[in-house]
Amino acid sequence: MSELFDVQVNEFMAKVIAKNPGETEFHQAVKEIVESIMPFVQENPKYSNKKILERMVEPERVILFRVPWVDDKGEIQVNRGYRIEMNSAIGPYKGGLRFHPTVNLGILKFLAFEQVFKNSLTTLPMGGGKGGSDFDPKRKSDNEIMRFCQSFMTELQRHIGPDTDVPAGDIGVGGREIGYLFGQYKRIRNEFTGVLTGKGINWGGSLIRPEATGYGAVYFAEEMLKTRNETLKDKIVTISGSGNVAQYAVEKLIHMGAKPVTLSDSSGFIYDPDGIDMEKLQFVLHLKNVKRGRIEEYALKYNVKYYEGQRPWSVKCHVALPCATQNEINKEEAEELMLNGCYVVSEGANMPSTPEAVEVFLKSKILYGPGKAANAGGVATSGLEMTQNSMRLPWTREEVDQRLHQIMINIHETCVKYGTEQNGYINYVKGANIGGFIKVADSMIDQGVI
Ligand code: NDP
Repeated sequence: MSELFDVQVNEFMAKVIAKNPGETEFHQAVKEIVESIMPFVQENPKYSNKKILERMVEPERVILFRVPWVDDKGEIQVNRGYRIEMNSAIGPYKGGLRFHPTVNLGILKFLAFEQVFKNSLTTLPMGGGKGGSDFDPKRKSDNEIMRFCQSFMTELQRHIGPDTDVPAGDIGVGGREIGYLFGQYKRIRNEFTGVLTGKGINWGGSLIRPEATGYGAVYFAEEMLKTRNETLKDKIVTISGSGNVAQYAVEKLIHMGAKPVTLSDSSGFIYDPDGIDMEKLQFVLHLKNVKRGRIEEYALKYNVKYYEGQRPWSVKCHVALPCATQNEINKEEAEELMLNGCYVVSEGANMPSTPEAVEVFLKSKILYGPGKAANAGGVATSGLEMTQNSMRLPWTREEVDQRLHQIMINIHETCVKYGTEQNGYINYVKGANIGGFIKVADSMIDQGVI
């Protein structure tokens, strides 16, 4: 970037920081996008004249509400609920709900902002949003989860709808929570519509939706490798997380002949040098989705090493798939990955690499697929679920998977189109940001000053 662009980015960021104090993750997400888009915006004055970036960083609407509920001891608990309706230029707001004690306004604004670009990249008609609560689902009974979800939806239902805002799952919100949320929406509104995605297969859900984010991140890694005439076969892969995204990333890696060797949760990681196979994955699925236990139990069951309180980035690998949470790879860890021979990073999680880590990846000229491109398969399949709900016709597993795969190939092509530098290196960060920006920006111009 030239000095002029540096000044422009700094001036822009100073205003964003002053207007949104303390929202560090939001500042981080905006800066990454503005840095790669600023030169493009300056080359195309229609965007700068219309103040598109200035408008895009301001949510169209922020909803903040009280979520009171009664725990199993009969005590009243109070949590905070949020929905950020960021941008509806190309379709109804779309994005997940996160239930985690760290949830705050800044984190949800970063996620909603990223979602706008990601959804645009899928080419489906979806705007961007995100929501959630500081509620901690860990160690809660099923009944407590249900009562919380019912209270949360009692307020949220007045702000969402199949043509307005369609939430889905994220950290701490899986099939069980979506079920309780959907039940309450239906009960209050007296309508059976596609207001949420990630629904159960018997009541409007799409086949492959639970698998989609993990599968998509693996398809994206495969597309990146193809640019160097390679495939995932026999590649050693480190993965963080052991939730929805990580589980299905492992499954697809096994299908593709790669060797996944790590999984983690917020307590530590396991390293299985023989590779996680389908039988071991079934154990993980039961452990995490039914028993709701800790990943340490994998180490006890299969007699492999467990690293308490650590992340898996010190393990030797060709490919890394961060699938847990934001800022889970820092500069030192990125450098260690490079030293150990890793040359592909495909982000299943949102913004898992710090800006310093991203700099290391780009300087090392590795194949680095940022979350908004690499994990877009989840929301893309949510878009397919919305289509099936509108048509009231379910598609087969094969049909949805084939569409998902094609969408990931198309997103990769968009990144190559806008991200290939003069020396031939594909900067997927730039490619995804510009590729996602254009359609939203043009639609905002078409729709006037809104
Ligand atoms: P889950 O709740 O199913 O799993 C999250 C996993 O990450 C768990 O293993 C959890 O461990 C771990 N984790 C969460 N927070 C932390 C933390 N602060 N430090 C260390 N580990 C942590 O969530 P998902 O798999 O759905 O989501 C994972 C990531 O993927 C998130 O960044 C999400 O935004 C992103 N994503 C998800 C999509 C989806 O379709 N679900 C779509 C696109 C992106 P523990 O159980 O100990 O908390």
